[in-house]
Amino acid sequence: MACLLRVARGGLSPWRGYCSKGTQGALSEGFVEALKAVVGSPHVSTAAVVREQHGHDESMHRCQPPDAVSVAPEHRPGQPGWQPCNGQRVPIIPIGTGNGLEGGVCATQGGVCINLTHMDRITELNPEDFSVVVEPGVTRKALNTHLRDSGLWFPVDPGADASLCGMAATGASGTNAVRYGTMRDNVLNLEVVLPDGRLLHTAGRGRRSRKSAAGYDLTGLFVGSEGTLGLITAATLRLHPVPEATVAATCAFPSVQAAVDSTVQILQAAVPVARIEFLDDIMMDACNRYSKLNCSVAPTLFLEFHGSKQALEEQVQRAEEIVQLNGASHFSWAKESEERSRLWAARHNAWYAVLALRPGCKGYSTDVCVPISRLPEILVRTKEELKASGLTGAIVGHVGDGNFHCILLVDPEDADELQRVEAFAEELGRRALALHGTCTGEHGIGLGKRQLLREEVGPVGLETMRQLKATLDPRGLMNPGKVL
Ligand SMILES: Cc1cc2nc3c(=O)[nH]c(=O)nc-3n(C[C@H](O)[C@H](O)[C@H](O)COP(=O)(O)OP(=O)(O)OC[C@H]3O[C@@H](n4cnc5c(N)ncnc54)[C@H](O)[C@@H]3O)c2cc1C
Repeated sequence: MACLLRVARGGLSPWRGYCSKGTQGALSEGFVEALKAVVGSPHVSTAAVVREQHGHDESMHRCQPPDAVSVAPEHRPGQPGWQPCNGQRVPIIPIGTGNGLEGGVCATQGGVCINLTHMDRITELNPEDFSVVVEPGVTRKALNTHLRDSGLWFPVDPGADASLCGMAATGASGTNAVRYGTMRDNVLNLEVVLPDGRLLHTAGRGRRSRKSAAGYDLTGLFVGSEGTLGLITAATLRLHPVPEATVAATCAFPSVQAAVDSTVQILQAAVPVARIEFLDDIMMDACNRYSKLNCSVAPTLFLEFHGSKQALEEQVQRAEEIVQLNGASHFSWAKESEERSRLWAARHNAWYAVLALRPGCKGYSTDVCVPISRLPEILVRTKEELKASGLTGAIVGHVGDGNFHCILLVDPEDADELQRVEAFAEELGRRALALHGTCTGEHGIGLGKRQLLREEVGPVGLETMRQLKATLDPRGLMNPGKVL
């Protein structure tokens, strides 16, 4: 038990007293004993505090605790609790660091939450092949700390220090995706425990080639599967060389339109920008307060350029010409690494900066992504509608990918506000679909975007997804109630 609490305290956020009690299933008599017999008594808990810590993520979705929590013993999961769950048809909910924003770990039908954070070894590093194999408890920051002296790094960087297998499960990305791609581009192979207990290596055991045309893309199927198809127990990831030189800058604009037009023009001019992030005036103000920055309170771009010193000069000059043509102030440079870290830490903490605007409220993040040419239109309109809505919210986005978030604050006990926030988010999702985009660029579907997924992929797309799910998980045990 002590071991479970240690995991829960170390890896997951504390329960914040917003808990649903009514939807869980009841475990049959003897189930917990059978589970303990398989995974070991100290690795199973039914204590309320442990269950509640595992029944929510960072989203506004109400905490729905599992009936039991099973912690995979260190460094070898085997099939943690699989036999009793399968035998008695008990749902299985995988959890990483619990940083998701779509309610992906809520135990909507009860069941057993499987926590893999004790499996935290980097089991293989192949620097000459630019690849690494990690267990599911390894987080993105832990991996980059481990790589510090190798000349390599892993660039996918959601704001939170998420587990890399959780990031694979949600198809995560972050500020570097415009240059280095998302998890979809950086996962080479996955080890997965399938719902029937078999172990699958999605690209074949031990394979780590940069590309493959061998049959169906099973790795691609499991990236973004949100725990609904199997439990990811190891990931082989692609690494990148640390750039020779890096410079970052911020620049403020007279309007949202000018900032987004600059983004589109920089990309169309083929400037190989490494990061290009948009923050609206409200977000900039929140970040100034929360992270003690001193930026103008105006629509702003945070940019970063990677390359040789000579290449950087050219990139910066071209980008600077474009932003000035759009009426921006000059770049404010962050050349020293400490200054750059401060800037990007502030960007990564944008979620918490917005939450601090109305203490006690929960955050709801929209996550639309559109083709880059449609970005100015949707962003400008969203800003206008947010102002008119009377809701509290701010806009931040990985605009280089056409992806942005409207982070809305909601008092979970205020049913009217909750309903208005959900309506705003749904309408924004539909607007993105109408512009040939998607309702989620990186957070996934989880609980809240299932209707939008139906509209996005259409009846045949949905039916195909259901058939895949039924083939791999005929009993519907894996993370029920999510995605489909
Ligand atoms: C401040 C903040 C900023 C963020 N910024 C970004 C961002 O920029 N980009 C972005 O993409 N996301 C962002 N996120 C969301 C979050 O970081 C990602 O969704 C991340 O990938 C979640 O990883 P996790 O380990 O916390 O997963 P969890 O929240 O634990 O789980 C998420 C889903 O994955 C499943 N899952 C977890 N581990 C496994 C496994 N081993 N096998 C199978 N399924 C599994 C779960 O069942 C659940 O459905 C942010 C979140 C916060 C709080």
